[in-house]
Amino acid sequence: SGRWARAMEILKELEENCATPIGKLRQVADAMTVEMLAGLASEGGSKLKMLISYVDNLPKGDETGLFYALDLGGTNFRVLRVQLGGKGGRVVKQEFEEVSIPPNLMVGSSSELFDFIAAALAKFVASEGEEFHLPVGRQRELGFTFSFPVKQTSISSGTLIKWTKGFAINGTVGEDVVAELTKAIERQGLDMRVTALVNDTIGTLAGGRYYDNDVVAAVILGTGTNAAYVEHAQAIPKWHGLLPKSGKMVINMEWGNFRSSHLPITEYDQALDAESLNPGEQIFEKLISGMYLGEIVRRVLLKMAEEAALFGDSIPPKLEVQFILRTPDMSAMHHDTSSDLRVVGTKLKDILGISNTSLKTRKLVVKVCDIIAKRGARLAAAGILGVLKKQGRDTALRDGSDMQRTVIAMDGGLYEHYTIFSNCLETTLREMLGEEATASIVIKLASDGSGIGAALLAASHSQYL
Ligand code: ADP
Ligand code: MG
Repeated sequence: SGRWARAMEILKELEENCATPIGKLRQVADAMTVEMLAGLASEGGSKLKMLISYVDNLPKGDETGLFYALDLGGTNFRVLRVQLGGKGGRVVKQEFEEVSIPPNLMVGSSSELFDFIAAALAKFVASEGEEFHLPVGRQRELGFTFSFPVKQTSISSGTLIKWTKGFAINGTVGEDVVAELTKAIERQGLDMRVTALVNDTIGTLAGGRYYDNDVVAAVILGTGTNAAYVEHAQAIPKWHGLLPKSGKMVINMEWGNFRSSHLPITEYDQALDAESLNPGEQIFEKLISGMYLGEIVRRVLLKMAEEAALFGDSIPPKLEVQFILRTPDMSAMHHDTSSDLRVVGTKLKDILGISNTSLKTRKLVVKVCDIIAKRGARLAAAGILGVLKKQGRDTALRDGSDMQRTVIAMDGGLYEHYTIFSNCLETTLREMLGEEATASIVIKLASDGSGIGAALLAASHSQYL
């Protein structure tokens, strides 16, 4: 019928506008490298902030003692404690708890959010068992993983540049987030000092390096997306401080804010951005990350409902609700291997109130998921290639006789759970690097590496050293 033909037309247009042929991906990778240079050259020199982390030494494995970490992501926050045993013992014991952030706190006041976090932290500290040892007279120390852009003023202080993802809290931008957390910790009557403030990318890099010496970059693919890597301190013109002894500095790219004319942006992306909490910002993130993929799919399906009556004569009301289709549900539909696409049928019914869908319609829904997920995964691969190029690690290098190994620590629920997405990312990266370079590059999943990483950085910046 004419309706189905119109649906196919919308699909075809989507496919064309989301296309990411290798040539385009190379342009994206090159643009990423160029923006990295610009962001390192001067403050405000690029959409890429290329933030200096004040981490000039990564964990060596000799850290010892009891340390806490608090990881504030986009969806959950985790509290963690770890007993570090040094070179031989490594992580002697580790415990964590995960708490989801009540949505109302994401758009409430700063003190409410920090009070909620500090209360959970205090409760967690109270459950500390005998296996953890704090030397007499010492204060507990904490690494704070904060997954938002921060202008660091030292390893343990920094001001919020902007909220991202689902957060919009008045009055925190420009404030020192460690001071905010410290005040909330004091209000709980908890005796604890924040000795390291780290972005989740930095935490993941540190946690990754602790277990593998060849980790030189970290990528987050969760609610949002970001990357960090090890840079030569002399290659950072905007850094006017003393050169660190190590000669290295870890950079938090804030790549979620990357944008380029080479990015394949559709009408759906433009509308999503315009109606978002942060219009014009985080454009790369809005194409790639877990917060947005399901929402893009919803917008495409809505257009098909409106213009091709895909789900019948009236538009299913729930299909008009922003963010109702979450990426984990999109992922579940995309991974449906049943012959009648049962999961797709159930999800459409349960989430969008659309019942009795035909197999043809379900297949179309899967196809939309496929286009959106693969565009995101391929763009993420291009971003990684851009970083590898900046590091001079995109070609097979020999150092001495050995092949130089490059490990990228990866974290985030999107990468971890959305298998089609992560497989597509790896295939694309391989395709762009070629066989020889691929052999020296490893992507290593470091689930919750950022928590351990923050604890390790708290240890290496302890007040008692
Ligand atoms: P955060 O980014 O908040 O620190 P995570 O790294 O745990 O938290 O990532 C959570 C995000 O990962 C979710 O918001 C969701 O977008 C995505 N995600 C979680 N599970 C799945 C899944 N099964 N399939 C696809 N995406 C998922
Ligand atoms: Mg996280």
